[in-house]
Amino acid sequence: TQPPETVSVQLCDVTFRYPQQAHPALNNISLNVTAGEHIAILGRTGCGKSTLLQLLTRAWDPQHGELLINGSPIAGLDEQTLRRTMSMVPQRIHLFSATLRDNLRLAAPQASDEQLMDALRRTGLQKLLEDGDLNSWLGEGGRQLSGGELRRLAIARALLHDAPLLLLDEPTEGLDATTEGKILDLLAEVAQQKTLLMVTHRLRGLARFNRIIVMDNGQIIEHGSHAEL
Ligand code: ATP
Ligand code: MG
Repeated sequence: TQPPETVSVQLCDVTFRYPQQAHPALNNISLNVTAGEHIAILGRTGCGKSTLLQLLTRAWDPQHGELLINGSPIAGLDEQTLRRTMSMVPQRIHLFSATLRDNLRLAAPQASDEQLMDALRRTGLQKLLEDGDLNSWLGEGGRQLSGGELRRLAIARALLHDAPLLLLDEPTEGLDATTEGKILDLLAEVAQQKTLLMVTHRLRGLARFNRIIVMDNGQIIEHGSHAEL
């Protein structure tokens, strides 16, 4: 099956507790995201922001409630459709001990070398091409990446994947202000026709979002536009 072109997301009374934990990380959360909407998720550390994105990727199943994509429970989607529907830039990014090419092609096995190099340029990682080429070995036995480079590599992966739902967990964490500005511009351009959920600690760029939600203690405590909050 083809991935949908646009994606709406619904969380209905979702409660989720990690194994062996006493308190739920998400406590009866409901959220309606219309197709094409851009939402920023804020809240202090440990309030459940990453968990919310993780549940959408089906990394965990909630004990109560449902997550829907275009009205269908994600629990019922086949793995391939789920993967083609969303791109995730996780908070902790994994670098594989593999070539730069293979690290990039992870979510886009079809991508040509031209497309890979274009994604590297757009995310400001052309240095990796100046120092080597797509065959350069990364990770163990090869080049390690800085925190900011790793983050941009993950964004490059998401660009190549080109899914209609973008889930970004602090995509500009650890970037200097200039690079952050460029990446936020790039993300805004890329996400234009997409549905976007972005976790951030930064207040910069929030005016671009249709809605901002603030979480605390596994719940949504505030909800509104940039002007309203
Ligand atoms: P931060 O801003 O620091 O990234 P967050 O809002 O993303 O925080 P989560 O990572 O969603 O917070 O964590 C929510 C709660 O769940 C926290 O109390 C955390 O300790 C707990 N938690 C997160 N991941 C796990 C896990 N794999 N196993 C058990 N508990 C977890
Ligand atoms: Mg987090």
